[in-house]
Amino acid sequence: MTLKHFFEEARAGRLTAIRCRRCGDLAIPPKEFCPACQERDWAPIPLAGGGAITSFTVIRVAPRGRAAEVPYAVAVVRLEEGVSLLGRIVDISLETLRVGLPVRFRPLIMGEQAAIGFGPV
Ligand SMILES: [Zn+2]
Repeated sequence: MTLKHFFEEARAGRLTAIRCRRCGDLAIPPKEFCPACQERDWAPIPLAGGGAITSFTVIRVAPRGRAAEVPYAVAVVRLEEGVSLLGRIVDISLETLRVGLPVRFRPLIMGEQAAIGFGPV
């Protein structure tokens, strides 16, 4: 599974990890080599999309062209399947954000591009 395919799937609302066929390690987004055993024999694994915030950062100074979007939060979310993924928080007020808050994956469509988002459960 390529990174491009991963984001195409995400755009369609499907979150997919890959599982190493040799050691069983899960990875998301897809990598070329397994970080645990250096194998490159992966099987795609559909994920349920639910998880909880393990850390987050509030972005107050935007990248170029994104000034209208700040402030927003970016969080590391530990998914139910045990892998963690970085995504942007949507539809959750910054005041209520906290570590341990349950969230659910949702695609963020920005023009041609799709990004990982997490919203309320
Ligand atoms: Zn492995």
